[in-house]
Amino acid sequence: MALMITDECINCDVCEPECPNDAISQGPEIYVIDAARCTECVGHFDKPQCREVCPVDCIPVNPDVIEPREALQRKYEALIRAKAPAGTPVDAKGGAA
Ligand code: SF4
Ligand code: SF4
Repeated sequence: MALMITDECINCDVCEPECPNDAISQGPEIYVIDAARCTECVGHFDKPQCREVCPVDCIPVNPDVIEPREALQRKYEALIRAKAPAGTPVDAKGGAA
């Protein structure tokens, strides 16, 4: 699954720098989460970091993007590969070796 931001967002900006996948950005009216980049923080943290800091608790699961944990892990590994400089070895967990 990915998470999403509801219209209760008050544009406080604290979640955006916490996202390890650069999945959060300012949208036309409120902050938005790119579902293609959100792993629910799988691969980085035990808990979704954006939820940990959101003062108004407006970051639920996106019901349109249901993914099992294995899919989130694969998404994380793909994001790491895309970020790593060409030729960088990637270990079994997806991190740079
Ligand atoms: S759950 Fe993690 S990866 Fe997803 S938007 Fe929040 S901070 Fe980013
Ligand atoms: S932390 Fe919550 S209220 Fe603040 S910008 Fe992010 S989603 Fe909006």
